[in-house]
Amino acid sequence: MCNPIDLAGIGIGPFNLSLAAISEKNQNLKTHFFDQKPDFLWHSEISFKDSDMQTSFLKDLVTGIDPTSPYSFLNYLVKNGLFHSFMNTGRTVVTRKEFELYCQWVTRQMPQKLSFNSKIESLKYDGDLFTIETDKEKYKSKHICIGTGVSPRIPEFSRKYLSKNFFHAKSKEISSLNLEGKRLAIIGGGQTGVEIFRNALKGKWGKATNITLVSSRPNLEPLDESPFTNEYFTPNYVENFYDIKQEVKEKIVNYQRLSSDGNTPTYLQDLYNDLYFMQNIEKSEINFKILPYRRFKEVIDTNDYYTLQLMNSFDGNSELIKADIVILCTGFENKIPTLIEPIQELIDFDPYKRFKINKDFSIMWDGHDKNKIFAQNFSRYGHGISEPQTSLMAWRSAVITNSVSNEDIYELNNFVPNFLTYETQR
Ligand SMILES: Cc1cc2nc3c(=O)[nH]c(=O)nc-3n(C[C@H](O)[C@H](O)[C@H](O)COP(=O)(O)OP(=O)(O)OC[C@H]3O[C@@H](n4cnc5c(N)ncnc54)[C@H](O)[C@@H]3O)c2cc1C
Repeated sequence: MCNPIDLAGIGIGPFNLSLAAISEKNQNLKTHFFDQKPDFLWHSEISFKDSDMQTSFLKDLVTGIDPTSPYSFLNYLVKNGLFHSFMNTGRTVVTRKEFELYCQWVTRQMPQKLSFNSKIESLKYDGDLFTIETDKEKYKSKHICIGTGVSPRIPEFSRKYLSKNFFHAKSKEISSLNLEGKRLAIIGGGQTGVEIFRNALKGKWGKATNITLVSSRPNLEPLDESPFTNEYFTPNYVENFYDIKQEVKEKIVNYQRLSSDGNTPTYLQDLYNDLYFMQNIEKSEINFKILPYRRFKEVIDTNDYYTLQLMNSFDGNSELIKADIVILCTGFENKIPTLIEPIQELIDFDPYKRFKINKDFSIMWDGHDKNKIFAQNFSRYGHGISEPQTSLMAWRSAVITNSVSNEDIYELNNFVPNFLTYETQR
């Protein structure tokens, strides 16, 4: 075993990769990050040719806090000879595939501090240091940062039907999907749902006979990207939000949902145009339908196909649809990773079994004064709606870097005020 390090990162998604890049500014800090996957892969099962980021390429791993970092998206463009060509595309957002390529390029710039194919299998705490163990390595670290990401959310009642014909979009089954001559039901009208709907209509997985998109929302709701709404994704807003009462936070975050979980407006426009062409010009034989206001209630029959029961809250009726293939686009959830079980008793959870998170993104637990456990992407109801997004990841990485370094490596108090003032004026 090597000498103890200062910070071990569990998971190498964009958030911990950002931390690996940002924390490098403190050259005295020894860090190491681990991921179970063989390489940096970003939700690749559901990354299609037409899947774009919902955030500007300037909101990359580092730029928001350190545009001089060698790990910026712009540096990726320049170092790979892409800058001029990229500028000619006129894009402000990039495809999710290119964001993944950019992150993979970043991982290749710092191989000494990243271990892939390294699933953390056990975490121990001896009152002084953490020991984290993979099947190959053992590290001791003073602090850790959990960046294990989100897991597919699957309605409990439907779990027993999971199979190669009934699956969550983010699963391996999608790679062998064959829709030729089949009826497809997509459950969920968020961005993943509409992307699968559009790709299925275009015949990506063979020509389906019926394609039905079911959504509990009243419409295919657009992402709210207007400037005042975007103030939710600023450090000033997070600072203000953090200090308000918990019950108010829950209501506010639920109200703000569409600033984070809505559909990309240009994507909806493209989809609408495709549907217009298919129905009115091409006179496509595919029988497609979009069913808003429908809550998926039950699978009531499974012979050679599935009969799904939906509750229509627009007119209050129940209805049945038949499908050979069902793809759940029912979103994602934060699960506390099981690997923390050995220290669970020492952690202060909220009544919903979520981490309670300090302002510096460390969790509240008994060993906190000596050893910090940071958690990224676990504080939607603590720090706010920006938590699961990339918008503030560079800033959050800087907050964590300052905290773990015990000094201000980054200047974090120089942001101009927002235009919306939430605090009471005295
Ligand atoms: C399809 C999709 C598209 C999105 N698009 C955008 C967007 O355009 N803009 C935006 O701002 N946000 C977007 N988001 C939201 C957010 O940016 C992503 O979810 C992002 O991936 C979160 O990063 P993360 O680092 O928390 O987790 P993840 O990217 O999920 O990475 C977590 C990593 O931890 C690893 N891991 C887990 N457990 C262990 C273990 N025990 N040992 C080792 N490794 C482990 C996993 O293998 C994984 O690689 C999107 C989310 C999804 C699902």
